[in-house]
Amino acid sequence: MSKNNKNLLITIAVIVILFALLITAGIKSGNLNSSVLISQIIGVFIVLIFFVFLIALIKNFFPKTQQPQQVQVEMNTGIEKDFVIKPITSNYTFKDVAGINEVKEELIEIVDFLKNPQKYRDFGINLPKGVLLVGPPGVGKTLIAKALAGEAGVPFFYQSGSSFVQMYVGVGAKRVRDLFSKAKAMAPSIIFIDEIDAIGKARGNLRNDEREATLNQLLTEMDGFEGSEGVIVIGATNKVELLDEALLRPGRFDRRIFVELPGLKDRLEILKVHMKNKPFKGNLENIAKMTVGFSGAALASLVNEASIYALKQGKHFIEESDFYAVKDKVLMGKKRLNTYSPKEKEILSYYQASKAVIADWLGVDFERISLVKDDFKEEDKEIISKTEIMSKIETLLAGRVGVEERFNEKYSNAHKDIKKARELAYKMIKDYGMGENITGDESEVAKILDEAYKETKELYVSHKLLIEKVYEKMLKDEVIHKEDIEKIKNEIF
Ligand code: ADP
Repeated sequence: MSKNNKNLLITIAVIVILFALLITAGIKSGNLNSSVLISQIIGVFIVLIFFVFLIALIKNFFPKTQQPQQVQVEMNTGIEKDFVIKPITSNYTFKDVAGINEVKEELIEIVDFLKNPQKYRDFGINLPKGVLLVGPPGVGKTLIAKALAGEAGVPFFYQSGSSFVQMYVGVGAKRVRDLFSKAKAMAPSIIFIDEIDAIGKARGNLRNDEREATLNQLLTEMDGFEGSEGVIVIGATNKVELLDEALLRPGRFDRRIFVELPGLKDRLEILKVHMKNKPFKGNLENIAKMTVGFSGAALASLVNEASIYALKQGKHFIEESDFYAVKDKVLMGKKRLNTYSPKEKEILSYYQASKAVIADWLGVDFERISLVKDDFKEEDKEIISKTEIMSKIETLLAGRVGVEERFNEKYSNAHKDIKKARELAYKMIKDYGMGENITGDESEVAKILDEAYKETKELYVSHKLLIEKVYEKMLKDEVIHKEDIEKIKNEIF
């Protein structure tokens, strides 16, 4: 019997019992005349309407989509009784996802494909079967996948990677099989596997038979259907480097989309989405400015906490001060959320601005450099010259050099870049034999780094003016695009 039918039967039974009780009460008190009965019936209806209203109200407070109940675990044994794979219908659209426009743009084509698979089939076009969303927790990977399903109007199968990996060998593989067969039967559809690294971790030395069997099944399933069948598998992870290479091969998760922590503009957009319909007095931009390093999820919870705080103060609207009051609480609830003090923001901005300008000068290609991440293009050339590697090393050292010159101090934030620069120098000498002699003496690695450092210092001095301007922009917007540098150059020169 379906759950709905059960609910209906229970409701009818409750009504019948209520009537019986009322009538018996009437008979007992000797009051059973028609007007009393009618007023009692009306009473029952009013109570019923009240309940229906209450249920509707409660439902409205819950998220638009519900996770299906997937696993029933028998007490004590840990063995599941039945594992029901059911899709959900998503009412989310791209409008619910603030910012991350590049990500949305990449997915629009897939929406069209899911809506009109035939159009693509007629032209023999295969779209990617698998899309990997890569990014830290809380940046909206699940949300965007739900929005994709909502936009395309297709069923959405949600599974967490860890739900596949069980104690018993073969269970995970069976679940993967069931999941794919259901999704195919309901195609076009979307399968979303959260934390796919739980299944897809590189196999390495430590063998885990269950995980391996599950991973193999996933690979088999992905190879076993054609892109034109209309099932898109979306995986989410924050550790792409840990994934088994087999998962990333063509025909599997061959499209990777990076979702980053939101920059200033996106944080403002996310705040707007979550503050929609809330009474607020103040400037959301100030809130966006003080939340560097917050993910979308952290912003959503900040809005919630600030609202609760304002309500507790007996206010009729939320103010900026309510956000300041709860910020630390939200931060403490989140693990390792990096927010920066104004001074740290200055250091990071100058660091990144120096890198951007020197990279631009040396021809190291990038699209954008933000406060928290740079986007240097990976070299896809087979052969690279010593000059090109040297330029990369100098770009990596530019942040340290700039900050050291400007603030007269060395800071630890440079460690990743220094490590990368050292690795490159090592490769240059040891692997590529680009040192003074072909055997590659290790002391030459240090020499290369010293040389690069000296040259970068000279470059810094001759580019200081431009770096200062780029720094101002970085401090304000937290991001700089390649075109911005051109614009600033035209303004000053
Ligand atoms: P992830 O899957 O990357 O861990 P989620 O999609 O689960 O993150 O995000 C959790 C919540 O954070 C969302 O339900 C939403 O409330 C909020 N959120 C995250 N990113 C955004 C965004 N870009 N726009 C609006 N809300 C967001």
